[in-house]
Amino acid sequence: MFDSLSDRLGGVFDKLRGRGALKEQDVRDAMREVRIALLEADVALPVVRRFVDRVTEKAIGQSVLRSVTPGQQVVKIVNDELIETLGGDVTPELDLAASPPVVIMMVGLQGSGKTTSTAKISKLLKDKQGKKVMMASLDVNRPAAQEQLKVLGEQTGVATLPIIAGQQPTEIATRAMQAAKLQAVDVLMLDTAGRLHVDQQLMDEMKAVAGIATPRETLLVVDSLTGQDAVNVAQSFAGEVDLTGVVLTRMDGDARGGAALSMRAVTGKPIKFAGTGEKMDAIEVFHPSRVANRILG
Ligand code: GDP
Repeated sequence: MFDSLSDRLGGVFDKLRGRGALKEQDVRDAMREVRIALLEADVALPVVRRFVDRVTEKAIGQSVLRSVTPGQQVVKIVNDELIETLGGDVTPELDLAASPPVVIMMVGLQGSGKTTSTAKISKLLKDKQGKKVMMASLDVNRPAAQEQLKVLGEQTGVATLPIIAGQQPTEIATRAMQAAKLQAVDVLMLDTAGRLHVDQQLMDEMKAVAGIATPRETLLVVDSLTGQDAVNVAQSFAGEVDLTGVVLTRMDGDARGGAALSMRAVTGKPIKFAGTGEKMDAIEVFHPSRVANRILG
């Protein structure tokens, strides 16, 4: 995860750490390399600028350069700034504080990993929090999408709403709410339809479903491998619905980290989960400090 970014930054900081004394110019040279590393990692330009400016400002403070271990102190400043950029010190929890069934609506483009993430999060809530969970697929566009969720439900031991052919998403949402209430479900996961591109029909459908189910959480699923595109998609969705968080999938294959590092600053939305593989337990709560530690090795 984030290997190429990690290697690049590691090279810069090894040089800094190895030196006894540091001059302002050394810090500026190092920050020039950090800037290039972040841009190559596909981090959004304004985020890169702010990052480098803030680190430079703190690092050339006299107390840092005059200290016994200036290199290490600069690395600490970078670490703190990475955590801040990734979302800060607090881990964003799912907000399930509503009367049941609490609805979590999953949105995103086709192929982003939405259905997989729906099942992974359901399993997590069932196994780790002891919640009674039901999943319902509202995806009537992609053939076999509803069937896919049913199979994942069987794999994970999470109930799914029975499929009735020919129903529209809003009808399925209504039926899912009724079933969840009747069966005293704690959390209802709604897997909405995705499309290849952001379009108005997708947004309208999503809003209609939200109107029926009043989700407590609306999680956008985006593919980390698409870098800044993932951030652009998030901005489009955030302009239409009240997103409460992001699920960043395929972090296992992402050597660069640009989506993770840009998401919070550009969209203001916290990354709540990271997908780390195809298996049903390959999902992690997104801890900014742990991710920063991984990047700095
Ligand atoms: P959807 O169209 O958005 O519902 O996408 P799917 O959930 O069907 O996922 C598309 C593909 O991506 C599937 O083959 C998943 O196994 C795979 N996938 C989803 N999340 C991850 C992840 O975090 N890591 C990896 N490596 N593969 C993933």
